[in-house]
Amino acid sequence: MTETRVCVGCGAPLQSTDERMPGYVPASHLEREDVLCRRCFRIRHYGDFTPVVVDEQTYQREVATIFDRPGLVLYVVDVFDLAGSLIPSARRFVASSDVLVVVNKVDLLPADVGYEALGDWIRGEVRATGVEPLDVVFISAERRHGIDKLVDRVARETKRPVYVMGMANVGKSTLLNAMVERLSERKQPFTVSRRPGTTLAMSRFEIDGPFGRVELFDTPGLMYTSRVIERLCGDCLKWVVPRSRVRPRVYQLNPGQALFLGGLVRLETLGGERQGIVLYVSNELPVHRTKRERADSFFADHRFDILKVPCERCAESFDDRRSWLVAAPPRHDADFSLGKRGGDIVLPGLGWIAWTGQRTLARIEGPTWLALSMRPRLV
Ligand code: GDP
Repeated sequence: MTETRVCVGCGAPLQSTDERMPGYVPASHLEREDVLCRRCFRIRHYGDFTPVVVDEQTYQREVATIFDRPGLVLYVVDVFDLAGSLIPSARRFVASSDVLVVVNKVDLLPADVGYEALGDWIRGEVRATGVEPLDVVFISAERRHGIDKLVDRVARETKRPVYVMGMANVGKSTLLNAMVERLSERKQPFTVSRRPGTTLAMSRFEIDGPFGRVELFDTPGLMYTSRVIERLCGDCLKWVVPRSRVRPRVYQLNPGQALFLGGLVRLETLGGERQGIVLYVSNELPVHRTKRERADSFFADHRFDILKVPCERCAESFDDRRSWLVAAPPRHDADFSLGKRGGDIVLPGLGWIAWTGQRTLARIEGPTWLALSMRPRLV
């Protein structure tokens, strides 16, 4: 019988087929003695956390540790994809822990966004999943905003474990790297050491800080299939995922017009008055306005050139479509009823549409799996 070889750092079984999964090493290293998986190697030598992604079953098994040993949980979410950041089963394992919701990627938000309203909305969405947050904090892991405060908070946790938790791609690894970088820059020297573990993908670190030793756990990332990010190829994502601060795009729409957000989402004004809408989506996403009666033929002719995304290979994921009715004043058949101040229709992973119309009747069409929602206007 051949023995399963494990990483001497984290205990994950070694494999050389999937770089995002635990225990990855290039095939040429497999034969060596005392092998560190690539992730452990990078952490040890460069302080670099690289994401580890696992399936649902493994995830459940790993995070059960949090239930057994409650502590402080940093629940990292992506401000542009909150729906895609919420971990469906989180309630079950964070029940006895304190949960700090860490809202990442705020560098992408327009400057005039109302953080209080945003915090309230996020708190409400997290609560709706059965998790009661202690607090909501805003950061940009990539730009290193808000990291100092978070590090100060973590450094005080000498009595119970700290867990960093988040869906794949919310920026969990970037945050861990940012925290470790900050810790090691401090005058009072911090040291971070990785402790060999026995679990598959939950990695344990010890940090010596000014108040004592902090035990920090990095949890694996979980993947969804109903997120824009998992439905599009790398080329398509260049148009869709905001890379820099989103510039609002303002449109005055007359009834009977259609607005394409790439070939992903279509907005049509059916009635009401001329109205203002503001798009908060990636600056790269092609947006095209036309008359409603020309919209179908425009789409057929130009989905792969002017509208760019999804490309022919990714298009299949977007063919199964549904529509949502948006109305002001409220109507019983509307999916979203706008109040006096209008509202934001949130397109998870893409951004949002802000409506100012007092008398509005519109239809939004998009893929069935895109979980649209409404919130009070942020801007
Ligand atoms: P993980 O899978 O949760 O560990 O996520 P990563 O740390 O690998 O980040 C996923 C993607 O989000 C990468 O493309 C990062 O560059 C990006 N990202 C992470 N943090 C930020 C941030 O603060 N701002 C922006 N704009 N992008 C970020």
